[in-house]
Amino acid sequence: MALDPETFDALIDTVRRFVTERLRPLEGAVEEADAIPADVVQEMRELGLFGLSIAEEYGGLGLTMLEEAKVAIELGRTTPAFRSTFGTNVGIGSQGLVMAGNDAQKAAWLPKIASGEIITSFALTEPDVGSDSGAVKTRAVFDGQSYRLSGTKRYITNADKADLFTVMARTGDDPGARGVSAFLVPRDLAGVSIGEPEKKMGQKGAKVADVNFDDVVVPAENRLGAEGEGFKIAMRVLDRGRLHISAVCVGVAERLIADCVAYATERKQFGKPIAEHQLIQAMIADSKTESLVARALVLETAAAKDAGKDVVMESAAAKYYASEMVGRVADRAVQIFGGAGYIADYGIERLYRDVRLFRIYEGTSQIQQIIIARETIKRGG
Ligand SMILES: Cc1cc2nc3c(=O)[nH]c(=O)nc-3n(C[C@H](O)[C@H](O)[C@H](O)COP(=O)(O)OP(=O)(O)OC[C@H]3O[C@@H](n4cnc5c(N)ncnc54)[C@H](O)[C@@H]3O)c2cc1C
Repeated sequence: MALDPETFDALIDTVRRFVTERLRPLEGAVEEADAIPADVVQEMRELGLFGLSIAEEYGGLGLTMLEEAKVAIELGRTTPAFRSTFGTNVGIGSQGLVMAGNDAQKAAWLPKIASGEIITSFALTEPDVGSDSGAVKTRAVFDGQSYRLSGTKRYITNADKADLFTVMARTGDDPGARGVSAFLVPRDLAGVSIGEPEKKMGQKGAKVADVNFDDVVVPAENRLGAEGEGFKIAMRVLDRGRLHISAVCVGVAERLIADCVAYATERKQFGKPIAEHQLIQAMIADSKTESLVARALVLETAAAKDAGKDVVMESAAAKYYASEMVGRVADRAVQIFGGAGYIADYGIERLYRDVRLFRIYEGTSQIQQIIIARETIKRGG
């Protein structure tokens, strides 16, 4: 159920101030240190950010998708790594449990996820399995009492600090998606080990690493849903995650546009602010128009999801459009800033690198195109 408008406005106002006054001044330091300061993480816990999407009965804020999208837009106005700190708890790391968990599983884990006491990660991708995610090779063999889990998961966000993984593993002989089941795997089970964080292009402060499972004994009660339902669960989780990521893309685009306007009105060439040159105005107009289109698509799709509509196609379209849009906006921002756009002090080149990821994870742009076309053809237009 939606929050009452006053409470929601107060939440938006608090998040906006936290982003502007607390997080934005730290962007450069986070990039340098490749880490989010512990006191900031604690403040995120106190603000309830780890539990945005988790029901109030488990200690979360229980936001609707539309409310979550609006908060995600605000969070997008700073280095995306800040959002990643709690992003897996809000999204892909918790939603399998929210959607398919039984009461005992939810009661055991959701309160700690919502409070940020523990971190969760989503482990689908493998060294040989990316876009074709129904082909997972990690195996979970039932021995009559427990599952014995073996395999490697790759590029797992927040793996370095995760206490709980939602792991997609093959339980059946079926080589396709129908043979995949989902499991809740605590980090402290014997045989779970985490690789070194990868060096990556952007989003410094957010870590990804391999997660290795070496004959890990996973209790049967840790399976999420029935055997063979794991792929379906993963796809539902990603459908929802795509809307959240699209909203973050809108936020980053709006931030970049504001930075461009501030710079272009200040910077003078040929005797006037560059904002008065029509070729600069054209770039601002294109960025503004595209970000407005993405905002409308994301919010309309989020509202439709809250109304119980099938939004598989629309979520994929939102992710596809918004992630490509913010790439174009970031590229124009570098251009509007000129040389300064390429120099680290201004932060534009950092956001340019940061936003590149949005076209890759939670389904690449090509995978979104495939989903959009498949669903459109299925619907007959
Ligand atoms: C920073 C980061 C964080 C991540 N976090 C997580 C996480 O928390 N959990 C998790 O499970 N995964 C995570 N991932 C993995 C991510 O979801 C995958 O990288 C992504 O799905 C693409 O898979 P891949 O890298 O194997 O590329 P591939 O699937 O090998 O794709 C390579 C290229 O081929 C294209 N391609 C593939 N199939 C087709 C097709 N049928 N038609 C046309 N083109 C195609 C792709 O679009 C891409 O351009 C993360 C990745 C990164 C980089």
